[in-house]
Amino acid sequence: MRAVTETAGVAEVDADQVLTELAGSGSEAEPSGPKFTLELNQDQKDIREWVHGFAEGVVRPAAAEWDEREETPWPVIQEAAKIGLYSFEAMGQFWSDETGLTLPIANEELFWGDAGIGMAIMGTSLAVAAIFGQGTPEQMGEWIPQCFGTPDDVKLGAFCASEPDAGSDVSAIRTTAKYDEAGDEWVINGQKAWATNGGIANVHVVIASVDRELGSRGHAAFVIPPDTKGCEQGAKVKKHGLRASHTADVHLDDCRVPGSCLLGGKEKLDERLARVREGKKSKGQAAMQTFEASRPTVGAQALGIARAAYEYALEYAKERRQFGKAIIENQSIAFTLADMKLEIDAARLLVWRAAWMGRTGQNFENAEGSMSKLKAGEVAVWATERAIQILGGNGYTREFPVERMHRDSKIYTIFEGTSEIQRLVISRAISGVHVK
Ligand SMILES: Cc1cc2nc3c(=O)[nH]c(=O)nc-3n(C[C@H](O)[C@H](O)[C@H](O)COP(=O)(O)OP(=O)(O)OC[C@H]3O[C@@H](n4cnc5c(N)ncnc54)[C@H](O)[C@@H]3O)c2cc1C
Repeated sequence: MRAVTETAGVAEVDADQVLTELAGSGSEAEPSGPKFTLELNQDQKDIREWVHGFAEGVVRPAAAEWDEREETPWPVIQEAAKIGLYSFEAMGQFWSDETGLTLPIANEELFWGDAGIGMAIMGTSLAVAAIFGQGTPEQMGEWIPQCFGTPDDVKLGAFCASEPDAGSDVSAIRTTAKYDEAGDEWVINGQKAWATNGGIANVHVVIASVDRELGSRGHAAFVIPPDTKGCEQGAKVKKHGLRASHTADVHLDDCRVPGSCLLGGKEKLDERLARVREGKKSKGQAAMQTFEASRPTVGAQALGIARAAYEYALEYAKERRQFGKAIIENQSIAFTLADMKLEIDAARLLVWRAAWMGRTGQNFENAEGSMSKLKAGEVAVWATERAIQILGGNGYTREFPVERMHRDSKIYTIFEGTSEIQRLVISRAISGVHVK
């Protein structure tokens, strides 16, 4: 992997080369690659420092403002694009690290800066991951760059799976896609809920049912190109946290897209549907592997929030004096901070293990991806709540950042699979029993 230099950033990486590397780095790869090590290589250290610098210098100072405004922080995304951090080249470089650790490292640093702005920058990667995971090389080449735009004209991507009646239960998706053979077009109808960047994205990736009788095995992913008629933003959601990240419903009314917008292509879809209808086993394991592989990245975001709250609380506890001494001199405060550090480091080990497993094609026999997201999400909620406690009344106010961090952390036990669903996945994996 090429090193990121301070002056060049990642913007100078050759785009075609990135796509070629990405195409060869799917999660279905045979187990291979480097042995697991906690010793970061120079590229990883450089990227960590680079993202940290941006998080500290640009993201943090803007965090409170955009949280209050509850709007997409376009100028900050543009700054990220200018230095090459918000770009498909950077995302490709993070993804293509053969140890798998660069992606969680970059996410942790960015979300350490601020989670709302972090999600405004990283939300696009949900759509990118779907195109990368299911698209042909041509589709990757066409759509992934359009998810990002250019530094002068920044664009976003949105991934729309959830619906009002289909959250944890994705098999309940009602959005349909019907093939119109005469025009070689797909006609998509339905309503999507909770889409990050929904309605303001340039490229939407929509999960729709092509055969309702097959449940989730009858689903397919479609790219909705920019400005397609029939794809409109619905209500924007007012949220508890991550308020700098736009979340909205997306309405799809007779939304027609070219046949080429079906990710993976029609031939592959027809073959898969035929296999399912014949009662043959679908590639459920491959889909499971993909989910498991993406979960550590989400866990790393939660870790960034937890670490930020821990660091703030540690400094505060050393400064704040009550009863003639710093509050950290009380065991109850010091032990809480010790536990916070312990839990955060433990969660990071799970995140890095799962990231390495995903990238090197190991089997997630015990749902290690789910473990990492579950642990990191719950640690973030717990650690940010403890941070508020350590700051006392100040912690409860919007004048201090731990209040925002606590609000931001809560989503990490809900989206990308709730904590209950992660426990379901883990319990099934370890027991072989179809736990309900
Ligand atoms: C800020 C935000 C951003 C989001 N971004 C996106 C996005 O970009 N794209 C997208 O497609 N979706 C997105 N989502 C949706 C998110 O993925 C869902 O909210 C999540 O999957 C949970 O679904 P639900 O809200 O319908 O909860 P439900 O599925 O209704 O669950 C409600 C409760 O019941 C529990 N529960 C459900 N089933 C079981 C079970 N079998 N066993 C035990 N407990 C169970 C859940 O754990 C939860 O506690 C986003 C949501 C939010 C809030």
